[in-house]
Amino acid sequence: MNDTILDNEKISGEYRQCERCVMDTSAPDIQFDEQGFCNYCNDFISKAKPILDESQDVKNGKLKILIDEIKKKGKGKPYDCIVGVSGGVDSSWVLVKAVEMGLRPLAVHMDNGWNSELAQNNIERLIKKLGVDLYTYVIDWNEFRDLQESFFKADVVDIELLTDNALVAVNYREARKYGVKYIISGSNTATEGVKMPPSWAAFNKYDKKNILNIWKNFGKGYTLKSFPIYSTVDSIIDTFIRKIQWNRFLDLLDYQKSVALEVLSSQYGYVPYPYKHYESIFTRLYQGIILPEKFNVDKRRNHLSALVLTGDMSRDDALQLLENIPYSDENEREIDSGYFLKKFEWEPEQFENYIHKPPIPHDEYGTEFFAPKFYRIIDGVCRRLNRFR
Ligand SMILES: [Zn+2]
Repeated sequence: MNDTILDNEKISGEYRQCERCVMDTSAPDIQFDEQGFCNYCNDFISKAKPILDESQDVKNGKLKILIDEIKKKGKGKPYDCIVGVSGGVDSSWVLVKAVEMGLRPLAVHMDNGWNSELAQNNIERLIKKLGVDLYTYVIDWNEFRDLQESFFKADVVDIELLTDNALVAVNYREARKYGVKYIISGSNTATEGVKMPPSWAAFNKYDKKNILNIWKNFGKGYTLKSFPIYSTVDSIIDTFIRKIQWNRFLDLLDYQKSVALEVLSSQYGYVPYPYKHYESIFTRLYQGIILPEKFNVDKRRNHLSALVLTGDMSRDDALQLLENIPYSDENEREIDSGYFLKKFEWEPEQFENYIHKPPIPHDEYGTEFFAPKFYRIIDGVCRRLNRFR
């Protein structure tokens, strides 16, 4: 952490941290008002807080309509919704609640070769206890490694774009297969409502063109066989023509992560992780070493800020956590690094060289830039007309 602060001081000449959340000048576009509050928490309070502050009565009303609709549209089908499970708290809680409310979910999990044993065990225990079907999609490891290696060679920040893109693709694919109209996700405003700075690995997750261009530039020339790539056009077709809805179900529940964790641990044998998104070994290494050391990004600032702003954690506790390295301990960091090098068949120097090479923006490799802009316009119009959502 100290290194991050020093790096930042070197770049901007002035280090500053928000007085209300824990975002700081490592987000290049951060701005502070006269009270010392930043644009990230101001934005959260104006846009996300109203969603969270809606009375539970209003939310229950909306939830009832949604559940009835899911059941109605699922009649005669083997499942009425898809729930993507990662082994994390948010998606596990969604699955528990969906079953409790009488839904018939198909749990969908994607295995890119990096799942931690802990996550795998959490999923298995949960599925067994709830008695739901699990579909696991496994991406061929050689193919995924080639794609990841291409992203390393390209020096772009959003290496997790690959996982996120494939995840979306697999969920929609299963929905299409069973004629299911609802994908219920663990994404939610309470833990993810603070906007991710654009330069902190928040690239357009549907950018098939960017993925393929990087892979063609740096890959070994495998034919894509198992990577289920997804484009902005696919998303437009699934959303507006097939009318498959990706629903932020957790926003309608009285969701407090600490309470969910308590129930999951005591009733479902769930074993918690030290930080958000630590269910994959690669994500751990990415957020714990690659992002802070190569890109000067500590995503914990964003995740912890959301918890502080919802009152789920005190600011002092969040600051205390940020004093630690972004790993549960040095030992785990060493074990993960060793695991990564072995799995990637890399020498330690190769990784060192990578960390010290300067980052290159995704745009340099070509993007579907026009498309997300177009998608946002259409999406905005449809939301206003309230026709599809
Ligand atoms: Zn702030």
